[in-house]
Amino acid sequence: MNPYLDDDLVALADQVRRFATDRVAPGFIERDRTRVLDRGLMRAMGELGFIAPELPESVGGQGLGSLAAGVIHEEIARADLSLSYINLLASLNGQILAEHGDPGLTGPWLERLIQGDALLAIGLTEPRGGSDAANLQLRIERVGDQYVINGEKTSISAADQADAVVLFGRTGAPDAGARGVTAVLVPTDVPGLTRNRFDCHGQRAIGRGSLFFENVRVPVSHRLGDEGKGFVQVMQGFDFSRALIGLQVLAVARVALDETWAYVAQRQAFGKPLSAFQGVSHTLADFDTQVEAARLLCLQTLWLKDRGAAHSAEAAMCKWWGPKLAYDTIHQCLLMHGHGGYDHGLMEQRLRDVLGFQIGDGTAQIMKTVIARTRAGRAAVPA
Ligand SMILES: Cc1cc2nc3c(=O)[nH]c(=O)nc-3n(C[C@H](O)[C@H](O)[C@H](O)COP(=O)(O)OP(=O)(O)OC[C@H]3O[C@@H](n4cnc5c(N)ncnc54)[C@H](O)[C@@H]3O)c2cc1C
Repeated sequence: MNPYLDDDLVALADQVRRFATDRVAPGFIERDRTRVLDRGLMRAMGELGFIAPELPESVGGQGLGSLAAGVIHEEIARADLSLSYINLLASLNGQILAEHGDPGLTGPWLERLIQGDALLAIGLTEPRGGSDAANLQLRIERVGDQYVINGEKTSISAADQADAVVLFGRTGAPDAGARGVTAVLVPTDVPGLTRNRFDCHGQRAIGRGSLFFENVRVPVSHRLGDEGKGFVQVMQGFDFSRALIGLQVLAVARVALDETWAYVAQRQAFGKPLSAFQGVSHTLADFDTQVEAARLLCLQTLWLKDRGAAHSAEAAMCKWWGPKLAYDTIHQCLLMHGHGGYDHGLMEQRLRDVLGFQIGDGTAQIMKTVIARTRAGRAAVPA
């Protein structure tokens, strides 16, 4: 129990946990091998209302609020972090489409997204770098009533599995920074768009890859937000995904801790359970304390969002602290399983999976810059 989750949210979490335990957890290791995101599971999640429940009813959502999204992200991630990307990409892209798109364009996509029938990627990072995102160079040129797109995006989650991508490109001058960036929705089956898949360390069911655009054309109605304002308007959605990522990785850390507490209570050394040694139990207690606190920060961030209060600094805290803490916690849990922890299996896969979020969606350094700017002011903290 905690002050953020009322009885309805606890009941929702229980329902999702039962689904995740029965349907998602059994294929966790197999999906890492096959590297295929299970579309059947995605549709089942949609049918049960587990995808983007926070979206307003006016666009087909349930209007349940960000905390509902948070508890669902936690429960799916406990079973398989890669699978919970379905929730993450839907919540991030769903909010962008609902707030910034032409309803004639976004309505059918939102319907498919919520039903688990479509997967949308987010295309920001380019080969020249991802941290300095405002300096992106992919070209989007207006020709009549169409946009013509040329360039490359790289390290895009679900690049080769997504049905469409929310794409950020430059309609303005190359050196105009955040001004002159426009966001458009691009279906991935358009002529001129090709893609590949990387061999990732973790998160292998969702995967990452590059998208190559060669004279790709979409109607002007595919624009999200105003021309040249994509960075300022649309990027605000990332505060949401940063808190959700914190909850995802901390849920993985929590299940690792639960299993490790049980293991050290029964595994014997020197005639005692491992937990009798303070080198073991105090170490776990330290991580348990921090995981508990970090989770509450993530819930607090979503609570602020649901009240329309500023939460950019808190979201950035969730995003740097959560993934680092989750990695360090699972690392320790793996070590406490001795040689067995090093075999291919739950612990080592969890460790590989959570590591990606120390980079994806922005590194710790960039998150700390966001926090510093919020506290000290943008002028006092230049890039
Ligand atoms: C698992 C995963 C999933 C991803 N999914 C997506 C996705 O779906 N869509 C997408 O667009 N991108 C995605 N990315 C890309 C990701 O957002 C970028 O990798 C990230 O923003 C960092 O960019 P970069 O890799 O180019 O590193 P760089 O920008 O080259 O930075 C390299 C290093 O320098 C540090 N650094 C850079 N600038 C500063 C500074 N000013 N101060 C201090 N340190 C600095 C960085 O923190 C980093 O450690 C994903 C990446 C991963 C690993």
